[in-house]
Amino acid sequence: IHFHKGKVLAVVTDVGGRTSHSALLARSHGIPAVVGLKNVTREIKDGDLVAVDGFSGAVWPKPSARRAARFARRARQLEAHGKELEALRDLPATTVDGHSVELSANLEIPEEIAHVLESGASGVGLYRTEFFYLGRAHLPSEEEQFTAYQGVAQRLHPRTVIIRTMDLGGDKVASYLNTETEANPFLGWRGIRFALHHPEVFRTQLRAIYRASVSGNVKLMFPMVTTYDELDQALALCDEVRRELTKEGHAFDPNCEVGMMVETPSAVWSADLMAKRVAFFSIGSNDLIQYTLAMDRGNSKIAYLYEPLDPSILRSIRATVEAGHKAGRWVGVCGEMAGDPRTSILLLGMDVDEF
Ligand code: PEP
Ligand code: MG
Repeated sequence: IHFHKGKVLAVVTDVGGRTSHSALLARSHGIPAVVGLKNVTREIKDGDLVAVDGFSGAVWPKPSARRAARFARRARQLEAHGKELEALRDLPATTVDGHSVELSANLEIPEEIAHVLESGASGVGLYRTEFFYLGRAHLPSEEEQFTAYQGVAQRLHPRTVIIRTMDLGGDKVASYLNTETEANPFLGWRGIRFALHHPEVFRTQLRAIYRASVSGNVKLMFPMVTTYDELDQALALCDEVRRELTKEGHAFDPNCEVGMMVETPSAVWSADLMAKRVAFFSIGSNDLIQYTLAMDRGNSKIAYLYEPLDPSILRSIRATVEAGHKAGRWVGVCGEMAGDPRTSILLLGMDVDEF
């Protein structure tokens, strides 16, 4: 979480998958990462020069002078290409035949906002708040969270920020919450399940988000919803929080939209029912792939199964978009598929509204 661009030039790991949260963090910091190399930490010694190609996943310990020069040249080319893309930054996200979509950024830590603004994003489509809870010894207080969310909302204003409520569990565990080690953490106490089992922790976060909602254009959404009942309970808690804040005289935006992530097969096939209760859907393709193909996204042994183009994934996305649109809801994709040009073009064809 605390890695900084400029100090850390690349990350290589023995374990993990390309959508492990550590890999996503590296990516959002603009740090090239190659994960799941099994024994790379034994092969590289302190002080070795290493060439890392995050595009192809190639890692060269002690590269020859020729290879090192080639990598340096490539790095300069990439930088120049980035500069070229800057010229497109302020163009509207509209296709040549006049179809407009929302093009947003993902945010892991508030410090990244400058980068979001520089990129010309129309807002933040996914603010992963759980990093707030990690790498520290105690729960963050309501005030601390409020200050952070308010800061994000203000700096992005008038752009939208969609704050995702805590998605703890899986590969994101806070030791001070006394969670036991689970045999199948991604199928266990994660996301909205964890939040509903810790109503006081959840309520504190909801209060902070609602209080911040008057400072900008804030929406909130729930992660990893599997059943209608979970959605119902989470929405009931939102109602309670709004009543509480009104009674206490705290301001909040009464029109703050509440949406949900669609990232489990059950949510896909209940999307028509759930659409009646939420303002929007945001498809978490990273998890949708993991849960639909029954493959742990952090397990390097089965990383080959991570296939966004599997027909089951494309059909699930299509079904979700259709169910959302039928109910008059907009549907976004906030997983990596939306940021990968090889798959985003398909999502555009499937009528996804927000990337
Ligand atoms: C997803 O699952 O696609 C998603 C965006 O959420 P996360 O990667 O944080 O699980
Ligand atoms: Mg997810």
